Amino acid sequence: MIKIQLPLPVSDAVALSKMRKRTELSNWVDQLNSAYLLYLTSFGSATKLAANKVGLDATASGRMETCYRDETILDGLDWISTVRAAKHISACPMCGGFSKGTLEHVLPKADFPEFYVFSANLVPSCQVCNGKRSNTASAAGILHPYFDAFLAGSILETQIIPPFEAPSFAPKAICFFALSDETISRLVNHTTRSINVDEFSSYAEGRWRYIRERAKRFKSKKALTTDISDTSVDYEKANGCNNWEGAFWRGLKASPSAIQWLFANRNNASLF
Ligand SMILES: [Zn+2]
Repeated sequence: MIKIQLPLPVSDAVALSKMRKRTELSNWVDQLNSAYLLYLTSFGSATKLAANKVGLDATASGRMETCYRDETILDGLDWISTVRAAKHISACPMCGGFSKGTLEHVLPKADFPEFYVFSANLVPSCQVCNGKRSNTASAAGILHPYFDAFLAGSILETQIIPPFEAPSFAPKAICFFALSDETISRLVNHTTRSINVDEFSSYAEGRWRYIRERAKRFKSKKALTTDISDTSVDYEKANGCNNWEGAFWRGLKASPSAIQWLFANRNNASLF
């Protein structure tokens, strides 16, 4: 749920040119090139691309898979491990959690083997959300961290659900921009299919314990409210939107009843 830049945009042309030398792929290269152009111009639209499928046969799909797994310079795909490692990214672009280490095929490889090795379809992600989406994401559509510009704004918030003595936490898709019905549908679908609620809640529980300790230092509710608001804004400025830390502070800022409870119970040792 984080906007990132496309990686190494020239590599796809190299990979396409190398496919001509693979007997299983040589007859498909022109169609693959056209399909990928449509991918780029439609910003990875599952609907448009499903209506224009290449229809790769099993042999060609199998070769694409092998090329992807091998990541060799021979296939022009030696950049894949660099994109997977995503050293310049601090959180998973797909779910906002703080793990990485896998690559997500935004349009699933089972439905769209034609985009198996193309960089615009490969987004760094964590193993947990990658496994949660599996091959089921294409039907309703999900968000695309390379193309959905609104991901640069706030779209994820942590709901803090009473009783505040032992709250529960839930991810909530929010949006302050005017989006089409189709995009809102993808946003909601993406949130449901990408965020592991147990891990999200566990992270939020840790932050709730932290803010309860931090609340002890404030002598007025106004000062605590200002601190929470400032922390949320400062964090977002420094780290961008929509990772789980930013979502927690944003959700807390948006919950006067939680702040009220934190202030009223800041010295209640029996609750700790
Ligand atoms: Zn993830």
